[in-house]
Amino acid sequence: MIIAVDGPTASGKGTISKALAAHFGLPHLDTGLLYRAVGRQTFLDGGDPDNAEDALAACGFPDKLLADASLRSEVIGGMASKVSVHPKVRQTLFERQRAFAEQEGGAVLDGRDIGTVIAPDADVKLFVTASVEARAARRYAEMKERGEDVLLEVIAEDLRQRDERDRTRAEAPLVAASDAYVLDTSTLGRDEAIAAAIEAVEQAV
Ligand code: C5P
Repeated sequence: MIIAVDGPTASGKGTISKALAAHFGLPHLDTGLLYRAVGRQTFLDGGDPDNAEDALAACGFPDKLLADASLRSEVIGGMASKVSVHPKVRQTLFERQRAFAEQEGGAVLDGRDIGTVIAPDADVKLFVTASVEARAARRYAEMKERGEDVLLEVIAEDLRQRDERDRTRAEAPLVAASDAYVLDTSTLGRDEAIAAAIEAVEQAV
């Protein structure tokens, strides 16, 4: 069974995908991490994430970079959003994601274009979303817990910019597949959101 989970930043799709993978005994790929690695590698190479050639060269990042905790930072998230607009970067990362989706027994993949581009044949497609306010508040709480000094309004503005870039790019924009189940987590707690996602998968298969 292939489960495709898409949605904007901080919608809860990562938490939901991990929980679905554990519940259904499937391997999980956070595809955002691949774009984050390209963003980070572009920076390490002294390149410009807005430049297609620089970003493409960074697609050869070493696998060990995927385990680097720095990839989770907001700065790298912003770079990932920039490198991800380049069609050649998306093409280069396509095979890796497709192979993961096609493995025997299935998989859970989360990202922006899993249900539309990477696995349009997925058995279940979830589009996890939440208001900018709810997402910013979650990100703020997470960052405060890590001891980071941040302003709620700065986070909200950053989310708006990334949403805009992800939704309006020409190649594989962030959009719910026509056959996706839309799960709005704005007013749901973590456990409620996971329970709703499990129920949606069970009803779909
Ligand atoms: O999900 P995450 O916030 O880690 O993704 C970082 C960035 O990578 C996103 O803002 C988006 O621009 C890009 N991305 C993408 N396609 C995916 C996953 C992530 O374009 N499948």
